[in-house]
Amino acid sequence: MRAFLGVKTQQLLSRVCSPSAAVRWRAAQTRLYCSSSPDEEKSRPSMLRHLTSKIIATGPIPVAEYMREVLTNPVMGYYVRNNMLGPDGDFITSPEISQIFGELLGVWIVSEWMGAGGPKQLQLVELGPGKGSLASDILRVFSQLQSVLGEVSVSLHLVEVSPALSRLQAQNLTRDHSQEADAEDEPVYRRGETAAGLPVSWYRRLDDVPAGFSIFLAHEFFDALPIHKFQRTEKGWREVMVDIDPEKPDQLRFVVTPSPTLASSTLVQADERRDHVEVCAEGGVIVQQLARRITEDGGAALIADYGHDGTKTDTFRGFKGHQLHDVLASPGTADLTADMDFSYLRRMAGGGVACLGPVSQRTFLKNMGIDTRMQVLLRNCNDLSTRKQLISSYDMLTNPSKMGERFHFFSLLHHSRLAKPKKAEGLKLEKKRRPAPLPVAGFTELSFS
Ligand code: SAH
Repeated sequence: MRAFLGVKTQQLLSRVCSPSAAVRWRAAQTRLYCSSSPDEEKSRPSMLRHLTSKIIATGPIPVAEYMREVLTNPVMGYYVRNNMLGPDGDFITSPEISQIFGELLGVWIVSEWMGAGGPKQLQLVELGPGKGSLASDILRVFSQLQSVLGEVSVSLHLVEVSPALSRLQAQNLTRDHSQEADAEDEPVYRRGETAAGLPVSWYRRLDDVPAGFSIFLAHEFFDALPIHKFQRTEKGWREVMVDIDPEKPDQLRFVVTPSPTLASSTLVQADERRDHVEVCAEGGVIVQQLARRITEDGGAALIADYGHDGTKTDTFRGFKGHQLHDVLASPGTADLTADMDFSYLRRMAGGGVACLGPVSQRTFLKNMGIDTRMQVLLRNCNDLSTRKQLISSYDMLTNPSKMGERFHFFSLLHHSRLAKPKKAEGLKLEKKRRPAPLPVAGFTELSFS
């Protein structure tokens, strides 16, 4: 059956890889956060001022609260700022490096939809869609695989906290054919339609996405969610907080609470062996929601991010202009991020779903047939600079010292997706078995023979 899946996925891939399919390569550009003009800078309330008044009023704040404010404060948050997009970026993501990334994920989605028996409705739900590039590449694959998808009714659901990015996603996905909701508290705050007529809806929270068979995607989403930090001390686990530096009142510093907090008493595992741990409780809640939805309505989630399997300690860091940036310096002007702990996500997902991975991005993309795709593209490309760009994008995505080993893929699946075929009960002569499930692409080496 492994070979069977290989053939099936290979067939999907070969249609997407068809040399006649338009090949468009993005320049290695970044997700772009340009600085504002000095006038705007002066008029904008300062994030640092906001945080220091908060700390003066309530005392030191947990790292999770600091991260939430800095990234998603509705007025000043890094992701929420109106003028965050422009030519100078802070970091780059795989979907922005090359469209091949989104194409392979599109094939994964179609393969999972087929593995679930091809339900009549397919909701593609993306958490934190950035510029909308990944969704756009996936929808192109859907249109190339129209004959496979048949009459299925596809809809796109985007969970995005940033109004500015939602506008950009609307431009990219609906060619500006979208409308904002009249009232601010509407669960669907924007609606639109793609050029192919697929409905697109925007939500602030996953909770608001309607129930139904869904494939969920989260690419570099979980690493942006707030983490709590805990330090082992002689007196037990203590939470790391952010405080004002008493020596320099316009600077922040980390402190450790003298006594346990609710978070330090509940979020650290009893058998924890590390001396310092980071726990993304918000990510845990989202994974629980994904698991419940998949159990109840079917579907799968594909999570791709940098992370570890419960081994790393201090990974909290900032990025500004592609450089590491002190997480406490000039809050609101740089991206803040922390590695995902896949072992925590697996624990939070519980037994209601099957978990696969993490596998490295290199392994996942190779299993999905990125090498075959490259060969086809190179065979059909004579332009030297395009060839160079193809090769360097491939290298960036798969090279172990670049994104290949740093990023990992992890999946939640409905248990039925992996269920072993049961022997038919009753008559001994009865040899008929339920067909074995298709192996899950990306997590299994495909046979292209
Ligand atoms: N997936 C994209 C963008 C990753 S950046 C890519 O890989 O290119 C993180 C994205 O998540 C941004 O779109 C940001 O606005 C969004 N985001 C961050 N925190 C969020 C939250 N709490 N809820 C919803 N979206 C969030």
